[in-house]
Amino acid sequence: MNTKYIFITGGVVSSLGKGIVAASLAKLLQSRGLRVTIQKFDPYINVDPGTLNPYEHGECYVTDDGAETDLDLGHYERFLNVPTSQANNVTTGRIYKTVIDNEREGLYLGKTVQIIPHITDEIKRRMTLLGKSGKYDIVITEIGGTVGDMESTPFLEAVRQLQWEMPDGDCMVLHLTLVPFLHAAQELKTKPTQHSVKMLQQEGIKPDIIVCRTEVSLPESMKKKIALFCNVKADSVFENQDARSIYEVPLLLHQQHLDDVVLKKLKFRNVPQPDLKEWEKFLNKLYNPKTECNIALVGKYVELQDAYKSIQEAFVHAGAVNSCKVHVRSVHSEFLDATNIKENLSGVDGILVAPGFGGRGIEGKILAVKYARENKIPFFGICLGMQMAVMEYARNVLKLKDASSTEVRPQTKDPVIDLMEEQKTLTTKGGTMRLGAYDCKLKDGSLAAKIYGEKMISERHRHRYEFNERYAEAMEKAGLVLSGRNPDTGLVEIVELPQKVHPFFIGVQFHPELGSTVMKPQPIFVNFIKAAIKYHAGK
Ligand code: GLN
Repeated sequence: MNTKYIFITGGVVSSLGKGIVAASLAKLLQSRGLRVTIQKFDPYINVDPGTLNPYEHGECYVTDDGAETDLDLGHYERFLNVPTSQANNVTTGRIYKTVIDNEREGLYLGKTVQIIPHITDEIKRRMTLLGKSGKYDIVITEIGGTVGDMESTPFLEAVRQLQWEMPDGDCMVLHLTLVPFLHAAQELKTKPTQHSVKMLQQEGIKPDIIVCRTEVSLPESMKKKIALFCNVKADSVFENQDARSIYEVPLLLHQQHLDDVVLKKLKFRNVPQPDLKEWEKFLNKLYNPKTECNIALVGKYVELQDAYKSIQEAFVHAGAVNSCKVHVRSVHSEFLDATNIKENLSGVDGILVAPGFGGRGIEGKILAVKYARENKIPFFGICLGMQMAVMEYARNVLKLKDASSTEVRPQTKDPVIDLMEEQKTLTTKGGTMRLGAYDCKLKDGSLAAKIYGEKMISERHRHRYEFNERYAEAMEKAGLVLSGRNPDTGLVEIVELPQKVHPFFIGVQFHPELGSTVMKPQPIFVNFIKAAIKYHAGK
C-alpha cells in the first residue's frame, strides 16, 4: 500500500493549535496500529528557527540528530513518543537555499529558475521524502501560517499539485478554522470559516475535513451549515472545543469519529479500533491529583508562554506520574535581587533555573541558585541554569568572587564556564552550536545514577559554553560532584550536591525537557517533583 498523506492547513487566525490537532490525529492513527509521522513546513525565510529569539516563535526544539526546529515538533514527540528528525521541519529558507545552491551548481541546465516549477518541485520533494522511506503508512504535514498569507502560497500550490497528481484516496486536506462566539450577541459565527475555505479554494485546494476551534460546543445545525457552505460532506465537520488539557484532544476527536472518517477517505480497510487505555490512565491521573507542589521557573523569557514549552509540558508529565498538581510560577530573573528574592520565592517547593543566552538576568539566576542551595529547596538547573549553579558555587563556596562565564564576562579572571574549544574558531551562527543527542556516563552512586537507574544515558544538547575543566579539581574538593561526563570528550554534563548535604540539587548541561513524553516522563523531572512533594509535606 502507498504511503498516504494528510495536509493540515489553518485559517482565520494563527495560534489555533494546528500542531495539537496534527499530533492528536496522529496519536489516534498510531493507536490503531498505523505507522505515522508528522512534519512541519514553516513559511519564514530563516533556514531554521535556531537563530530566532524565543520571543518570535517560542522555544526552539532540538531533535536527536541535532536539528533546531519549530516547537510543534515537541508536541509531535510528546504525543507519539517517536523521535523526529531533521527531515520533519522544513522552512521556506531551506527550500530556497537548496534551489539557489542547485542553480549555482548548474543543475537546471540553463533554464530560468522559477517559483513554479522549481520551488514547488523542491517543496513536493521534501513533502514526500519521509513517505518514500517506507517507514510510514501515513505522513501528516502541517503547513505553518494562515491561509491567505502571501508567504505560504508556494506551499499551498505544492499541496494543490500533489492532490492533483496522487491517486484518489492517497492524499487529503484537513483545514482548521475558528468559529468565534460573540458574547454580546450570544452567537457562534461561521462566516470567518466560510471566508477562509473560500480562500483555500482560490488556491485550488478543496478541503476534505474541516475542524473548528471553538469555545463552546457547535450544534449539529451549525456543522451542517458549515458543510453546505464549505463544500464538504456533512460527516466531515468536527469541533475542537477548548479542552482542560491538550492531551484530552485525541479523545475528544475520537468521540466524534475523526479517525474513522480520515481512514475512510484514505481508503484504509479493517483497521482495528484505537487502544487508548494507557492514554486514558494518564489523563485520569492528571485530572485527579492527590497532592500538589509549587515550582518556581526562573528565566528571562517568562512573559511568553511558549518560550519554555517543553519544560512546562515535562512538568505536566512528571506531575501526572506522581499524582501531583504542579503549579509552575514564573519568576523573572531580570528583576530578582537580594531585596526581593525571599518574597519572590516564598512558598516554593522547588526551583528550576531555565536555559538561556546572553547576560540579561544572569545575576538573578545566580541568586536563585544560592537561595535554593542555602535553604535546601530542591534545585534543578538546565543548560544555562547548570552553568549558573557552577558560577554560584565558585563565587560563594570557592570564594572566587570574579567567577563567571566568558559568555557574560569575556575578561573574567575565573572563567569557570568557557567557550568549547571547537567553538572558538567559528564565525557563523546558524546551526553551529553543540546540537543533538550525546551520551553521558554517570558516576556510580550519584544522584544522577539513582535518578536514571542506568550507567550511560543520552540527552540532547544546544549550547556553546561548557564547564571549564581547569576548575574541576577545586570544585570537587569544595564539594560539588561532577556526576556525568561525555564518554568521548570528558566534558562535564552534570553537577550535583551529595544528598547528605542537600536533598536534591542537580544541574545538567543538556536539555532533558526535550525528551519528556506522555508515555515516557523524563526521570529528572519525575524525581525533582518527588523531592518537591517531600519538601512541601515537610513544611
Ligand atoms: N548560553 C549558554 C551556552 O551557549 C547556555 C545555552 C542554553 O541554555 N541552551 O552554553
